[in-house]
Amino acid sequence: MSVRTRIAPSPTGDPHVGTAYVALFNYALARKQGGQFLLRIEDTDRQRSHPASEQMIFEALRWLGLTWDEGPDVGGPYGPYRQSERFEIYRQHAEELVRRGAAYPCFCTPERLEALRAEQREKKLALGYDGRCRALAAAEAQRRSAAGEPHVVRLAMPAEEAMVVPDLLRGDIRFERSQMDDQVLLKSDGFPTYHLANVVDDHLMRITHVIRAEEWLSSLPKHVQLYRAFDWEMPVFCHLPLLRNADKSKISKRKNPVSLNHYRRAGFFPEALVNYLALMGGVMANDQEQFTLEEFVAGFSLERISLGGPVFDPQKLTWLNGKHLRKMEPPVLLARLRSYLLSDDYMLRVLPLVQERIDTLEGFFEYGHFFFAGEVPYDAGAMKHLVPKGRTPAETAKALQILLEERIDPLLEWESAAIEAALRAFAEAAGWEAKDVFMTVRVAATGRAATPPLFDTLAVLGKEVVRRRLRQAIQTLKAAGPAA
Ligand code: GLU
Repeated sequence: MSVRTRIAPSPTGDPHVGTAYVALFNYALARKQGGQFLLRIEDTDRQRSHPASEQMIFEALRWLGLTWDEGPDVGGPYGPYRQSERFEIYRQHAEELVRRGAAYPCFCTPERLEALRAEQREKKLALGYDGRCRALAAAEAQRRSAAGEPHVVRLAMPAEEAMVVPDLLRGDIRFERSQMDDQVLLKSDGFPTYHLANVVDDHLMRITHVIRAEEWLSSLPKHVQLYRAFDWEMPVFCHLPLLRNADKSKISKRKNPVSLNHYRRAGFFPEALVNYLALMGGVMANDQEQFTLEEFVAGFSLERISLGGPVFDPQKLTWLNGKHLRKMEPPVLLARLRSYLLSDDYMLRVLPLVQERIDTLEGFFEYGHFFFAGEVPYDAGAMKHLVPKGRTPAETAKALQILLEERIDPLLEWESAAIEAALRAFAEAAGWEAKDVFMTVRVAATGRAATPPLFDTLAVLGKEVVRRRLRQAIQTLKAAGPAA
């Protein structure tokens, strides 16, 4: 049987560097073994999933060269590859489990579950479902669900003391009974949970190796129980160590840029990023530091991945990118520039904004500099406008931080009207004058108090540059001190 691996991202935000990292190892194993690599969109969380996020994931992974053989956009024999199009399949499988006695309907109300949690917390017991509805007679459960009483379907975890599950990198992992409560498989609205959809799909899509991040380890006993209950053969499980910040905490956008779009906009090369992520796995023979994706695949061995928490260090990535850059022939480098910041597409978005404000071509470089830079300097004039009258730098920094986290980060469709709406909503919620918010953001994002129309300018700059400069402004304001 040929090796089949998958990346199964949830399209809930900007494309994450961790997704690329996990995709890379799945890709490498499939390519090395002459198998298939799949992309499956796990959008069972209807509230948080967004088509724009899905598109960005496709684009970012393609940019990195991690192409898939089957997926929502390319089709394949085991589709559909988007979970929201497979709900009927999950429902049938949940019913099958109930028939087998491996799952049961649970009628406990959210209030009862809340009270149960509170009690468990108070008594310092392990949190989790206490199994009340598991004890219901099948006929009664049947009668209540036929009568339309709202319910979820829960997996009946085995009563055995512990479960031991093999992981390719970690060996046998032991899960105590207290770590395994009866998880919900189907919610009361009939939507599946991650556990059910993920296992059913891995089986139906003939996945042979589940290679994913360490954070899913705690789900493993539930998944194994699902394989057992369905009487399905299990794939090989391999949980990769999480990428970490320098302080060893899980990589997060508070400490490092984590969006692949950031690295793309900042002018990193896809081959350097792939090279760097591959290095994190520590699988290259002879400690080789610079290599191509093909070289990585050729030498790849899943077993050799090292378990030490790999630290994602943007400075090291920058250094590696520089090595790639300096090896390029100038015409190649030129082609890269032209495919990117100097592309016709980008220039034709910048020019209409700049044209009204310059008289010579030289003026373009003087005036338009901020459309091409990464960070921008704030001179004394700019600093005067960064903080609105009557506000302190500390207050302004705090406001920008909230704006960033609550309004900018979640904005997946980055265009003028949406940006304007986000800034206005922030002003309203924060009790700021809209014009003050606009000026602060204008200066923070461009280094200037006078620019082309603000929302169009922010739209053309792109979310990643705007985020980066807002962070820069926050740092600058904090350094300026509370009363400066
Ligand atoms: N949807 C999960 C994620 O976003 C997939 C985890 C897995 O690979 O099982 O990472």
